Amino acid sequence: MVVDLLHLADSDGAGWGGKTFTTGATAGNVLGLACGREAVVGRRVRERTGSTDTTVAGAGLLAACRAGGVAEIQVLTSLGHSSLAKAASIVGLGQGSVKDVGMGGVGEPWRLDLDAVERELKRADAEGVVSIVVVSAGEVNTGRFATNVLDMPKLRSLADRYGAWIHVDGAFGLFARALPKTDEFLGLHAHVAGLELADSIAADGHKLLNVPYDTGIFLCRDASVLTQVCSNPNAAYLAAPGDTNAILSPLNIGIENSRRFRALPVYAVLLSEGREGIAAMLSRMVLLAREIAAFVRDSEHYDWLPAADASLEDTFVIVLFRARDTALNEVLVDRINATGKMFVSGTTWEGKKAVRIAVGSWRVEVARDAAFVKEVLTAVAEGRGVANRVVSSR
Ligand SMILES: *Cc1c(COP(=O)(O)O)cnc(C)c1O
Repeated sequence: MVVDLLHLADSDGAGWGGKTFTTGATAGNVLGLACGREAVVGRRVRERTGSTDTTVAGAGLLAACRAGGVAEIQVLTSLGHSSLAKAASIVGLGQGSVKDVGMGGVGEPWRLDLDAVERELKRADAEGVVSIVVVSAGEVNTGRFATNVLDMPKLRSLADRYGAWIHVDGAFGLFARALPKTDEFLGLHAHVAGLELADSIAADGHKLLNVPYDTGIFLCRDASVLTQVCSNPNAAYLAAPGDTNAILSPLNIGIENSRRFRALPVYAVLLSEGREGIAAMLSRMVLLAREIAAFVRDSEHYDWLPAADASLEDTFVIVLFRARDTALNEVLVDRINATGKMFVSGTTWEGKKAVRIAVGSWRVEVARDAAFVKEVLTAVAEGRGVANRVVSSR
């Protein structure tokens, strides 16, 4: 149902052999890098020895790399989420394996620079280095996307040529695919077009689907890679009836053996809202973010980031901004949160403090909430308190 909601099946109908619920997108990134590592090293071993006997899962990373003549595994990305470096550490690639190939030079560091990716893949191939490309489908500070409509097919053919793995970190951004296909969202649809061409995808239910924490989603095109990474070898007592059916046992396609029924809240949301209900919920989130973005852009007190002249149609659910007054900007997050009326998180952008408003609630009512946020931001900028009033009885 999730694959269906997000239109992730190939045009030829091919599905995702490996699919499981995880604790979150961090675990999805761990699985993505683990599967990528298994596949890209395995391919080198096969090419070099003609055998599939030595795998990362079986022989370990060091032995498999030695057998395949692999000097290094690199992770190419643009403004990857911090959990990606953590995942690289956990699976033994190292935080330092994550290399930025974004378009920072032209002021769009969240975009993947495909020319740079191609150069890196070519160089790597010649030097015994194998690569995993991670697409930030939703950069956490700006909510912007690594790719545009023509990029994914191009990236797919580069990855096929050089034996690289493509993983999508779509924690929140993947859900742009469930927005209605109306004019106001066509730009966003272009940025998430083609993500179904990836080898693996991580997403979060506990962000935009509004289910409780501990609900992530992981998809792997080739079930055999995921099974190779996650199976419990030689544990007859764990053999589940599911193992012989079309549905793979969660035991052998995820990190945990024992786990709760994570799919249940997602199932409930999908049943209760349906495709249209979810599209409407996501639309409200995006439209509120755009109202706030327009306010910040036009305000005398604030600067809209990353670029004041951006199109509002590039705004998904995150609004990044800072106060023009440098003294206020230093304490802006605390001032906003001290009102007790709304909660924002602080970040840095281009070396200076900034604030991000991330919209992620089913309760959004665009006009009501936009007025409220404008009132808080204006009061904070003007150094006055925010009137206490009942905002919602829900
Ligand atoms: C939130 C987020 C993560 C981490 O997700 P968890 O659910 O906290 O593990 C990873 N990547 C991106 C882009 C995110 O926004």
